[in-house]
Amino acid sequence: MTRADLVVTDIGELATLATGPIPRVGSAMRELGRIPRAAVAIDRGRFVYVGPEARLKREVHVRSGGATWGAGGGTVVPGFVDPHTHVLFAGDRAAEIDLKIGGASYLDIAGRGGGLFQTVRSTRRASTALLLRSAEARLRRMAAMGTTACEVKSGYALTPAGERRLLSLVPILARRTGLRLVPTFLGAHAVPPEYADRPEAYVSALVTDALPLVVRHRLADFCDAFCEPGFFSVEQTERLLLAARALGLGLKVHADEFVHSGGAELAARLGCRSAEHLLESSEEDRRALASAGVTAVLLPVTPFASFAHRSSPGRAMVDAGVPVAVGTDLSPNSWVESMPLVLAHSVYGAHLTPGEALTAATVNSAHAIGLSGEAGTIAVGRSADFVAFDVPSIEHIPYRFGLLPERVYRRGIRVPPARNPGS
Ligand code: ZN
Repeated sequence: MTRADLVVTDIGELATLATGPIPRVGSAMRELGRIPRAAVAIDRGRFVYVGPEARLKREVHVRSGGATWGAGGGTVVPGFVDPHTHVLFAGDRAAEIDLKIGGASYLDIAGRGGGLFQTVRSTRRASTALLLRSAEARLRRMAAMGTTACEVKSGYALTPAGERRLLSLVPILARRTGLRLVPTFLGAHAVPPEYADRPEAYVSALVTDALPLVVRHRLADFCDAFCEPGFFSVEQTERLLLAARALGLGLKVHADEFVHSGGAELAARLGCRSAEHLLESSEEDRRALASAGVTAVLLPVTPFASFAHRSSPGRAMVDAGVPVAVGTDLSPNSWVESMPLVLAHSVYGAHLTPGEALTAATVNSAHAIGLSGEAGTIAVGRSADFVAFDVPSIEHIPYRFGLLPERVYRRGIRVPPARNPGS
């Protein structure tokens, strides 16, 4: 008899995502490991039983003082893994909405020293206490909406020391929130004003000053770069990523978001873990990503928040055999904290099926940030990170825009419901 300190019964549909290859590609993205009329049992933060409710009583004994919760016939899925966030920033850019409505693009606004550079100024000025407080509040709202693990990029300091300061906050935020956080060094988010006409010199500073210290102090698992005209060229991105790889970091690229400029091709050639955004990627890029096994991290709310009249190429990527993950891209440009909202956009904007979208937000996004085996599935022995929705099947999660979870558990402990904004 297995002992448990928490049992969840009366699950109408459980999607474990625990069977099938990692990452999932093609038709395997619809393999959800569905179990009808299911139950799960948890002991000391890990699943000890996952299966039909009919067998639960024979196999599991609730410890004295343990708890049982009935999910009311609802749907339970793994905790969401958000593979792309810029959650560490100060200030906001609400005033940009009027500019965007007037036709200004992200590049136009950044070119005038606003946009991202406005966030760089406010982040550089912000106290560490303020950065921690605001990022913690965002992470807690993300958790309340079902995110139990996420990536955190640096990228709004754009100095070697400032980027290190941002990354050093990630373990503190993980302790405060209980979330599994994966840090990514994005010193190459943009060329800072101090290096305006000298991008090569900035890349050199990143390679010689920033990266070695980031690695020595174990501040990041991945290195990312914004490969786009006006930001970093393919050659500069490659130079940085090769230096990062030599130091043992995983590689990511912000690729082909605004124009088709070779970022996806580079990601395939270097065998990066992921290429992200990819709004302007080509059929040839998709073939290259598929054959190199690079995960496409799609951020389907971002073009919507940018009034871009484009949508993430979800359907085309899945059909081409590229592993697809989805994330929020939470930043002052696209302030999205809710993975259920991302699932809705993955379906209605990127044309993934609800099953593919769920795979992209769990098991494949865990792979994209190096958490395979630790997050994104519900299986005996795994950390008990899961989300219960009061809907009859997984299809309803993206179907209903803005759906809120009934309950979220991280390591078997209930996450408090969302509180409203502030920062
Ligand atoms: Zn991004």
